[in-house]
Amino acid sequence: MSGNITLTMIKPMAVKKGFIGPILNKIAEGGFRIVAMKYTKLSLEQAQKFYEVHRERPFYGELTEFMSSGPIVAAVLEKDNAVQAYRDYIGATDPSKAEEGTIRKLYGTNLGMNAVHGSDSDENANIEANFFFPTSERY
Ligand code: ADP
Ligand code: MG
Repeated sequence: MSGNITLTMIKPMAVKKGFIGPILNKIAEGGFRIVAMKYTKLSLEQAQKFYEVHRERPFYGELTEFMSSGPIVAAVLEKDNAVQAYRDYIGATDPSKAEEGTIRKLYGTNLGMNAVHGSDSDENANIEANFFFPTSERY
């Protein structure tokens, strides 16, 4: 249960570049099971709510405008120790500093447009999963 899920989003630039398929394939290769998934678009207000924890950061405006600029794929992923396992798998926040073979290295454009989101704690994974998916939409 807790500790086994994380929330990811394929960010707008990665969607625009046609990377939904390759990224989902990579997620499967990494042994993450899809519990819930949707193709959707955040309003600016929804992006502001999702990234509420970053409200005081200088990049908050840029981040929330970008994240609401086009469609995304949101998904709940399951694996042992999912939060840390997925963060290791996607690589560093800045794609240019991410390890070879990681999702952000392969599909990221720059620091802001870094291909995917990954939850940073079990607590936030649950909050973020609830943001997109009621438990009735998880399988
Ligand atoms: P992570 O996504 O690796 O957990 P953070 O939680 O620190 O990173 O930041 C959330 C998102 O905000 C990042 O994924 C990235 O898209 C964006 N971001 C972080 N730092 C910056 C920055 N200095 N300038 C622009 N965007 C940033
Ligand atoms: Mg984060």
